[in-house]
Amino acid sequence: MKKLDILVIAAHPDDAELGCSGTIAAHIARGYKVGIVDLTQGEMGTRGTPELRLKEADDAAKILGLSARENMGFKDVLFLDDESHQLDLIKVIRKYQPDIVLANAIRDRHPDHGKGASLATHACFMSGLRKIETTYEGEKQDAWRPKFVYHYIQNNYIEPDFVFDITDFWDIKVKSILAFQSQFHDPESNEPESFISNPEFLPFIEARAREMGHRILTKYGEGFTVERMIGSQNLFDLK
Ligand SMILES: [Zn+2]
Repeated sequence: MKKLDILVIAAHPDDAELGCSGTIAAHIARGYKVGIVDLTQGEMGTRGTPELRLKEADDAAKILGLSARENMGFKDVLFLDDESHQLDLIKVIRKYQPDIVLANAIRDRHPDHGKGASLATHACFMSGLRKIETTYEGEKQDAWRPKFVYHYIQNNYIEPDFVFDITDFWDIKVKSILAFQSQFHDPESNEPESFISNPEFLPFIEARAREMGHRILTKYGEGFTVERMIGSQNLFDLK
């Protein structure tokens, strides 16, 4: 069993890179172990193929220095926040025992994001219930509840509860996003244009990061929302 400090749960391969890869890279640089579980292969996406997106996810994992990345193989667009999907995700949470989970935006343009957020929230809570029994590779798993679930903000603007400074990790974020070549603007591509292959998409990602950074007086930031209240024991820990 590989314990992780942070587990990122993402509806589609590339959600984590677009939403919170600066935060991921910053924690890996500080020695924390971070992994990503992608719920689907993004097979309903306009461009690319599931095989290509798996390869791209693997490339992005290497760029970020992830300790683990796996794909649940849930059906893109059609997966549900129901008992069977919750149990599958609980097994992964118990396997990695993360202290912090970063999950999809609580609501967004793509309905899978809000659905992924609620599935992750429910699975994290349920994973702490001893009476929900699961096994992994034939072994009974211990109950495990992550201490915090934070939701990275994705396409639609949501007022963040806090912003993480990613200024020193902006370049890695961009590299990890560009690993998903099939999804982004390529003048040579014969595939149909999609929402994110529009050449204006990456400047938008930068504008969002600058806006978030501006709110905390840094160059680039990533915004998060929290379901429970954030506490502190030292006001000087707050920047
Ligand atoms: Zn997505």
